[in-house]
Amino acid sequence: PPQTGDEGFEYVLDNVVMPILAEYKPDIIINSAGQDNHYSDPLASMNFSARGYAKLNERLSPDVAVLEGGYSIEGALPYINVGIILAMAGLDYSQVIEPDFSPDKVSQTRQVTREIERLSAEIITLWKHRAQLAEQKFKGKKYVENHRQVYYDTDNILENQIQKFKVCSHCSGVNIITSSSDKGAKILGITIPRDACKECQK
Ligand SMILES: [Zn+2]
Repeated sequence: PPQTGDEGFEYVLDNVVMPILAEYKPDIIINSAGQDNHYSDPLASMNFSARGYAKLNERLSPDVAVLEGGYSIEGALPYINVGIILAMAGLDYSQVIEPDFSPDKVSQTRQVTREIERLSAEIITLWKHRAQLAEQKFKGKKYVENHRQVYYDTDNILENQIQKFKVCSHCSGVNIITSSSDKGAKILGITIPRDACKECQK
């Protein structure tokens, strides 16, 4: 939720992300190092610090980090990126401190803490019951359809997406996405899995 501070991110790591990673055992972890959660970001209303990002990287131990950018190119990005690099190199990042840092900028209220705890419990419960949930969602169905809207604040574009997923008992199924923007552009995307059966390859 908005106003989540360093302690909130750490709570989610401990109670959601790390337990899921331990069970899922990914072959590779890539940090898509976006930095909109930093307390200096004017849009995201989050209270995350450079040392918070460093700790996140220390805990996640990604194989690769890809810089995605951010807005605060003087006050935040140099500190966050140094923190990420130090953490990935296994070096001390405790002295990486933004010039305008103060503890109240990364604090969170008790109400935010309670909301994070509630959401974390909900997500980990969904993860634990994912097999049953998938069965409920897909059993006896040929297609599953989802609609969603995505707003891109940098370009003021509203995207309307319709996802049509073909459920298949012989392979992973086919994912079809039709998308249009409020500016008029349209695209069609189809994902055919590597294990696609003959029928789905058609
Ligand atoms: Zn198939």
